[in-house]
Amino acid sequence: MTRIAIIGAGISGLSTAYAIEQQAAAAGLEVSVEVLERDERTGGKIWSIKDEGYLCEWGPNGFLDSKPMTLELCDQLGIKDDLERSNDNARKRFIYSEGMLHRLPENGPMFLQSKLISWPGKLRLAGEMVIPKRTDGADETLADFARRRLGAEALDKLIGPMVSGIFAGNPEQMSLQSCFPRIHELEQEYGGLLKAMIRLARQKKAEVKAGKQVASAAGPGGVLTSFVPGIQMLTDATGRALQGQVRTGAAVTELKPGADGWQLRLADDTSLEADIVVSAAPAHVLKQLVRPFDTQLSDLFAEILYSPMNVICCGFEQGEVGHDLDGFGYLIPRKEGCHVLGTLWDSSIFPQRAPEGHVLLRSMMGGATNAGAIDLSDEEVLQRTLTDLKRIMGVTAQPRFVRIFRHARAIPQYTPGHARRVEAITERLEELNGLFVTGNAFFGVGLNDCVNASNQVADKVIAALQQNL
Ligand SMILES: Cc1cc2nc3c(=O)[nH]c(=O)nc-3n(C[C@H](O)[C@H](O)[C@H](O)COP(=O)(O)OP(=O)(O)OC[C@H]3O[C@@H](n4cnc5c(N)ncnc54)[C@H](O)[C@@H]3O)c2cc1C
Repeated sequence: MTRIAIIGAGISGLSTAYAIEQQAAAAGLEVSVEVLERDERTGGKIWSIKDEGYLCEWGPNGFLDSKPMTLELCDQLGIKDDLERSNDNARKRFIYSEGMLHRLPENGPMFLQSKLISWPGKLRLAGEMVIPKRTDGADETLADFARRRLGAEALDKLIGPMVSGIFAGNPEQMSLQSCFPRIHELEQEYGGLLKAMIRLARQKKAEVKAGKQVASAAGPGGVLTSFVPGIQMLTDATGRALQGQVRTGAAVTELKPGADGWQLRLADDTSLEADIVVSAAPAHVLKQLVRPFDTQLSDLFAEILYSPMNVICCGFEQGEVGHDLDGFGYLIPRKEGCHVLGTLWDSSIFPQRAPEGHVLLRSMMGGATNAGAIDLSDEEVLQRTLTDLKRIMGVTAQPRFVRIFRHARAIPQYTPGHARRVEAITERLEELNGLFVTGNAFFGVGLNDCVNASNQVADKVIAALQQNL
């Protein structure tokens, strides 16, 4: 019986444990899997909090259905029928610019009509067609890429807000290749983004004509998907499927390689042995755990930094908001000088997130471009949020309900060199028998990315077990 310890019971740790169990059973391998979680609850960043009739998401509010991984996990767990797709109106996303909310254009005619980007900015964007692809293999920042291909206005009003919406990041410090690998590939494959869009649209048309079922074209796309009780249903169901193999309140404080596997010490001073350890804990935790036996590896983990974020949930009586909240919500370019990164209209995205006659707005504050926001008092955070709600949507009413959540380390930042760093980590790990890593610090921050990385690390663990038979 091979003993496998998994550190961390966020979606990455839980789905890794589940994938290993499934694959081991299919391959006829005997394993005992135990997930060790520091907190008293499972889920990590996933936590759906029901309070006074409001459903507040502490972290993610769902996953996109454009990739199959999380949907497949839901299917295996038997919770696919419980999925809730976001409201159709939530396709409408907005950007706040120069005193008004602009609907984010979704197609060519909408783009031409939109007042979000000026005519010179639109012409510059159209010029993307003739800009040659970069061929020197450099790990370009998102800002440099956007300035080079799309122009400064598109960087400020489109790319910057998108990067803060997904990574709470600063485009001047983020790697295109690691944050948006598909966009990098499109430039390399087709010579540019507009050329890629045209070629892919043509290809899709031809395939539809030939009667083939085709996935939607490039780009993140997809419909935000969750569950009526919140996204926590996903980690709860994964935890339940692991049938008592998850230990909460079990922080791993030491990790020691031995002749016959690994020794793990826990915060309560007990220890346990494992043949294989998979860490699904954040990079800063790994940095500490491996330091005593591999400083080089520890230094690599130390290079992966996180941006902080406050999540502010405000509940209002519907009639007091003075805005129809018809859509997903909005993001704000940094140039506007607002306090928050953006606000999601949570009760419009998913119904039943607020009591009858009320609405729930969820604002994000902080990120890499405003890291000091994490140190503000609750009063200051709320005051600044309300100032922005008034400026952007004209909300003057006081909220009936407020919850403020703090993430000192919200989202890992994939800075230039991230891919090389992950490669170096992978190489070091190959020399350390039986230690594997997964989690959002390495292979993507979306829930789909985390589940995908879990499946891949499970493949590696099973391959290692089969080799040692
Ligand atoms: C505010 C916010 C909004 C987001 N919105 C979305 C969204 O809408 N859609 C989307 O796809 N993604 C979103 N994300 C990203 C996504 O939520 C995360 O990338 C993902 O949940 C990370 O999962 P994980 O398991 O890798 O890490 P975590 O959830 O961080 O789990 C790591 C676990 O390790 C545990 N741990 C730490 N140290 C130890 C130790 N020493 N011993 C044992 N256990 C330990 C922690 O307690 C934690 O439970 C959002 C993130 C944030 C912060």
